[in-house]
Amino acid sequence: MTRTALRICPLCEATCGLVLTIDQERVTHARGDRDDVFSAGFVCPKGASFGALDADPDRLTRPLVRRDGRLVEASWAEAFEAVAAGIGAVTAEHGGEAVGVVLGNPNVHTMAGGLYPAQLVAALRTRSVFTASTLDQMPKHVSCGYLFGDPNAIPVPDLDRTDHLVLIGANPLVSNGSLATAADFPGKLKALRRRGGRLTVVDPNRTRTAAAADRHVAPRPGTDAALLFAMVQVLFAEGLADPGELAPHLSGVAEVRAMAADFTPESVAAYCDVPAEDIRTLARELAAAERAAVYGRLGSTAVEFGTLASWLVDVLNALTGNLDRPGGAMFPLSATARAPRPPRPGRGFTTGRWHSRVSGHPEVKGELPAAALAEEIDTPGEGRLRALVVVASNPVLSAPDGLRTDRALAGLDFMVSVDPYLNETSRHAHVVLPPPPPARSAHYDFAFSTLAVRNTVRYSPPAVPLAAGTPDEPEILARLILAVLGQGGPDADPALVDGQAVMRRLGSETADADSPVHGRDPADVAALLGGRTGYERRLDLMLRLGPYGDGFGAELDGLTLATLLDHPHGIDLGPLGSRLPAVLRTASGTVELAAAPIAGDVPRLLAAVAGGDERRSLVLIGRRHLRSNNSWMHNVPVLTGGSNRCTAQLHPEDAARLGLADGALARIKGDGGEITAPVEITDTLRRGVVCLPHGWGHDRTGTRLTAASREPGANVNQLLDGSRLDPLSGTAVLNGFPIQVEPAG
Ligand code: SF4
Repeated sequence: MTRTALRICPLCEATCGLVLTIDQERVTHARGDRDDVFSAGFVCPKGASFGALDADPDRLTRPLVRRDGRLVEASWAEAFEAVAAGIGAVTAEHGGEAVGVVLGNPNVHTMAGGLYPAQLVAALRTRSVFTASTLDQMPKHVSCGYLFGDPNAIPVPDLDRTDHLVLIGANPLVSNGSLATAADFPGKLKALRRRGGRLTVVDPNRTRTAAAADRHVAPRPGTDAALLFAMVQVLFAEGLADPGELAPHLSGVAEVRAMAADFTPESVAAYCDVPAEDIRTLARELAAAERAAVYGRLGSTAVEFGTLASWLVDVLNALTGNLDRPGGAMFPLSATARAPRPPRPGRGFTTGRWHSRVSGHPEVKGELPAAALAEEIDTPGEGRLRALVVVASNPVLSAPDGLRTDRALAGLDFMVSVDPYLNETSRHAHVVLPPPPPARSAHYDFAFSTLAVRNTVRYSPPAVPLAAGTPDEPEILARLILAVLGQGGPDADPALVDGQAVMRRLGSETADADSPVHGRDPADVAALLGGRTGYERRLDLMLRLGPYGDGFGAELDGLTLATLLDHPHGIDLGPLGSRLPAVLRTASGTVELAAAPIAGDVPRLLAAVAGGDERRSLVLIGRRHLRSNNSWMHNVPVLTGGSNRCTAQLHPEDAARLGLADGALARIKGDGGEITAPVEITDTLRRGVVCLPHGWGHDRTGTRLTAASREPGANVNQLLDGSRLDPLSGTAVLNGFPIQVEPAG
């Protein structure tokens, strides 16, 4: 019998509500949910293909365990016993530090990924944690950490109310938005223009978003920090810096002014390849707008000066009075955040509490750079990584120097991958634990609710029941945690993991004088939790202790999981509100505009502006496709082809100079190696830039990716050797690095 079910789409950061049509427990159709309080019916080709992705025949349905060198199907009990034995053998001989954890980007798109990884890391007692953040947005965390004292306090553009939006290195008409969760980003940009607002895009590529803008500025890749600094200089020089009501919350304004003095538009114009007068115009337009927001994304973060660029985005928001006010850059307040407490000085943000073994990279947010993963495995010596726990990550394709990572993984004593596919990374595992398809998983967006341009709360229970004898993803991760603790036997109870998390949170809440449950018995409060599963009880706990929660009786009409279940299309919690100073965790209790580590990196930028040597060579930048997200969707035939192709885009003049015709094969060389890719000539790119998408290179043996291996594409990250990093954040330079290009013959 055909039925419908609601499900929040997990395939990108827009978190659209979907209506799934289900026939015999199979998703046959997906459309946008018009009643969804956040997305109001919006859907893109990826969401519409939810059923094809869910039913991909290459998805693993049973665990795999390596026996006699081959991965073979095994029972869940056998798989967890193998994990306990494998991790146990390594830790017994080499200690917990010999085990690393690798967490991929899909973790922020699943409910389980939001709940269990921290407990997994704690169980292993390892400091070797690598995530996709250092291939992506870590510079924003670091800059916000120094500015606001909390690396997760990230302001987002108030898209529905702004009059002037400046996008730096972002293409939301294709990506559907990132670090700014907004369903129907295209519709919001159209609405901005309809109400008389202006859109400015700074991007070396005339992307779809840039083509739709009122103003497009195309600097050299990787030079955004200098361009933004020059805008700051103009604000001060022309008397346009006016934080307004924000002023009492700011410190370091004079220091920023002094630093900016070295970055006049004339001094950076050649480096950025943007006329000085155009930079002045950008600054003047920003200052003149009634309500404006500057927003930077991957093109401004995964670059040489990613943290400086991310910092300057919010410096501009602050100096123009647009930080934390409607229509500017505002802090969302998610339903599972801690309920606001009275303002009190925090401890501030710091990095470098420990360092990586081989290259001495500082820890950032408890992580080491993903670019350092291979060397931490294959460099001999005390403390070498000998085992990995990999959750939803494919570093062979996503981290720099995939070939080295490939070889390093092959040399591990033990590796377990939680992954639905036998892909370029999981093929090296000794145990593969496949989670069920998304339709069979519950969904709550812990991460993206903290980045949403409107506060809402939504929850999707599983749309389709699990197959008999199959654990859901929360149970897999809970049992994995028990297994690494040596409790991999069939009697291991995953509820212990959820119970422990609940009691730990309640222990600290009941001891906190500002908590609504202060002074109560944690066990009594835990007994009040609703929910059918451990993860639902944890969600209920967070909602009830959150800013909109019932506080376990303190607020009669407050939010609970039961309320949320009564609202299947979600609950609208209203537009973003001002949150300063409550959001601050800096030691001074102010927005610290000129933190010492940030200021300490400015001379490096000055030196680059003065040098400019590499800038004369060809450089590479990445791009997103509407029908893809990283390496996830290359195995879904309905989404491959068309624009979702791994081509090397070049400007016609560069192609002619290099003797490359459209469709010809180009050989591209970088620090880490070389690849070949078909040429696509386009005048949307500025001269001197080659553009390739990431997440391709499905040509390895031993995978089970039937459709992807037919059109494997080239792994662009193979062009990197892992040595180019933004030093403050440890983020790999994936945009604006030098390459050479020639015909492949
Ligand atoms: S925009 Fe993102 S969340 Fe919305 S349907 Fe498409 S993939 Fe899903």
